Amino acid sequence: MRVLVVEDEEPIASAIERGLTTKGYAVDVAYDGQAAIEKASVNNYDVVCLDLNLPRMDGLEVCRRLREDRFAGGIIMLTARSAIRDRIEGLDQGADDYLVKPFAFSELLARIRAVTRREGGLREPVLNTRGLELDPNTNRARRDGRDIHLTPKEFALVYYLARNEGRAVPQEELLEHIWDEHANPFTQTVKVHMNNLRRKLNEGFDEQLIETIRGKGYVL
Ligand code: CA
Repeated sequence: MRVLVVEDEEPIASAIERGLTTKGYAVDVAYDGQAAIEKASVNNYDVVCLDLNLPRMDGLEVCRRLREDRFAGGIIMLTARSAIRDRIEGLDQGADDYLVKPFAFSELLARIRAVTRREGGLREPVLNTRGLELDPNTNRARRDGRDIHLTPKEFALVYYLARNEGRAVPQEELLEHIWDEHANPFTQTVKVHMNNLRRKLNEGFDEQLIETIRGKGYVL
């Protein structure tokens, strides 16, 4: 899951970024409206957390343009204004939900889960395949009923492979969907996380769940 945080107040932006990153989200930050539009045009975001009062272009305008450009992800407005008129205007411009500042981080997490579930009915279903059970709402992984403790990144990797079961997923695609724009495509990041993931998934089992197909990628 990749999230764009649009917020001009740096301490708030980095607090949200840190919080979401520890929960396993890939997070990019834009500090003004124009930058938000540019990032959204080149990257694939599942959710945009959008501050209402922004320099250069305000949140309502950003929201309107994102929808105009057919942005299909969720949009959550972050607003210091609690006036009903502002909220309605936000929803009218295509926002899915809004949060009034200051808000509890756990509430933002809950809203993100809600808007991503709402989209297309069930966006992030519990997956069951080859004895593996993956619940993206709790990041819980089990194999043949046995709990496997994965880091948020490891969970995101195996969940992505499970969603694309049977298809070899290239490393670049995993980087694009699971890491943020600061990830260096020439590092061993994916490989390192993949090795740890495999070790955890396969410990005590004969069958290896993830295969590497030379020149093509990883397949579950
Ligand atoms: Ca602001």
